Amino acid sequence: MSTFLFDSIIFGPVWSRRLGESLGINLLPANNKICTFNCVYCECGLTPSGSTSSEFPAAGEVKNMLGQKLRKMKQNNEYLDSITFAGNGEPTLHPEFPRIMDDAIDARNFYYPKANIAVLSNSTRIDRPEIFNALLKADLNILKLDSAIEETLNTINCPRGNYSPSEIIQLLKQFHGKVIIQTLFLRGRYNGIHVDNTTEREVKAWLTALEQIHPEMVMIYSIARDTAIQGLESISQEELEIIANRVSLAGIKTQVTP
Ligand code: SF4
Repeated sequence: MSTFLFDSIIFGPVWSRRLGESLGINLLPANNKICTFNCVYCECGLTPSGSTSSEFPAAGEVKNMLGQKLRKMKQNNEYLDSITFAGNGEPTLHPEFPRIMDDAIDARNFYYPKANIAVLSNSTRIDRPEIFNALLKADLNILKLDSAIEETLNTINCPRGNYSPSEIIQLLKQFHGKVIIQTLFLRGRYNGIHVDNTTEREVKAWLTALEQIHPEMVMIYSIARDTAIQGLESISQEELEIIANRVSLAGIKTQVTP
């Protein structure tokens, strides 16, 4: 087994642990990863340097491909729970992300009005008003927060450029609850550094952040497939449940995916 990259704009539908029957939209180049993070656990492998925005698919092409796929699925009476922005990196990096969000909503309304529009984003671009407003339109606005402690976050997510969890937490608060926080728990060793976001210090700081953000839900999960870096350990369902109980006690809904 190894990490993998999507080779098309539209993929699936695939069964998602968190989103049900999900049709994916990959706004990143085929077979090439572009991301503002370089997470040690990334299923797409390490983030290469040197990719340019000219490689993104045009918004018109995304709209056509999505429409074609949904029409075909509808003709075949296929079921669909969600249309999900995911793929080979960070979807909000696409320069026409707001327009594509509007197109996806129109297509969903026409073909599968009960399906959710979901976005899996790493939160790094929510400081841009156009991205923030586009994310607000998603039914499931799923944003990453793997740690509230800068040092840990730098080790796990390896951000490109300056990134401050305290600033991101302030921005996440601005969604006024219309946000789902996704957190991957893990432990292991990377570049000689021990990393573990399940310690008491970590969970306490993360819970404090959640209480400030007050998301509509927290999705808790761990490593399920091959990762960019070797030597990482998946967290058991039991441990994830213990963390989830603490979130519930804070009055926030949680979903645990082993
Ligand atoms: S944010 Fe997502 S795509 Fe980017 S490196 Fe992390 S896991 Fe991979």
